[in-house]
Amino acid sequence: MNVFRSSDPVALLREDLRDFVGYRSARIDTVQGEVWLNANEACTASFIDPSGALHRYPSPQPERLVDALARLYGCDSTQVLVSRGSDESIDLLVRAFCTPGRDAVVVTPPVFGMYAVSARLHGARVVEAPLFDDGDDYRVDLDAVGHAAIALGAKVVFLCSPGNPAGGVIPRDGVTALARLLDARALVVIDEAYVEFADAPWLTRDVATLRNLVVLRTLSKAHALAGARIGCAIADPGVVAALRRCQAPYPIPAISAAVAIDALSPAALAATASRITETKLARERLRESLRMLPGIRRVYPSQANFFLVRFDDADSAWRRLCGAGVIVRDMRAMPALHDALRITVGAPHDNIRMLDALRGTVP
Ligand SMILES: *Cc1c(COP(=O)(O)O)cnc(C)c1O
Repeated sequence: MNVFRSSDPVALLREDLRDFVGYRSARIDTVQGEVWLNANEACTASFIDPSGALHRYPSPQPERLVDALARLYGCDSTQVLVSRGSDESIDLLVRAFCTPGRDAVVVTPPVFGMYAVSARLHGARVVEAPLFDDGDDYRVDLDAVGHAAIALGAKVVFLCSPGNPAGGVIPRDGVTALARLLDARALVVIDEAYVEFADAPWLTRDVATLRNLVVLRTLSKAHALAGARIGCAIADPGVVAALRRCQAPYPIPAISAAVAIDALSPAALAATASRITETKLARERLRESLRMLPGIRRVYPSQANFFLVRFDDADSAWRRLCGAGVIVRDMRAMPALHDALRITVGAPHDNIRMLDALRGTVP
């Protein structure tokens, strides 16, 4: 039997960062003691923080949070990097693996904008392998992604599943095949920001065998904690260690870590699971309502908590929604989406208001 063996993805790190150790923070896990005089913190707690919870610099990677995320995603704690939202993980991946002015990332537009933003800011080239519309749905052309990555020497490939804004899922087999194809060439990053809403497997366990695969997760969407800014990268332990060296010394505010740990308790996870079920039901009802409205050309199938919608007259739909105080995401500036808006599945009364505005029944 031909057993596939992944190469060490740390070999893909920027050459000039191979021996880079980063900043040595004052919170080094291996040091034990009772009297802490090493970080120039205040010697008593703040007036507004009587319990003293915020008195000291936080752990760079809060251990209880790392462990809870590893349990949730079915991976090992050494494979988890907690970041300030998954946005920070995207940025760290680009900075650690792309040499500015030389290396490239591959993106699949129309897609979440932060991959290209991080690449542009860092001076990495952005190579596009656009989604194709097969008349039913937008799909990722994984062959084109693989060819582009090899032909242009890309270091990082960003995939998004379910895709934002298109809402479709990339089949797991396709992603794992791409990771094998790009072994020793590039990291394959799959952003699963919305996967809790999908009827599709997570790829968080595949990271153990496909070492150049990285999965991005976040507490911002299904877990309803966008304001806490907690996300993570699930990756090979060597990649996690390399990203930590590139990260700010204390990236996770103590308040956010505490909230996130609470959000992963059994009671909170049960409440999250029922909100996900509600959202999925509301999504299917909303899909039917949207499809029955006049002036809507297309509602893309969605496995996430939003719909990409094409209108006969997107300008007038946008004006009616704005006039009714309903804010949706304007996609019209994106290539191939000049007639499209992205609409989040809201609470029932929000959805009714949005539909009324589109019907023009709002005065
Ligand atoms: C919302 C979103 C994120 C968000 O991430 P944070 O964890 O809030 O930084 C990441 N990726 C995609 C595709 C998103 O839509």
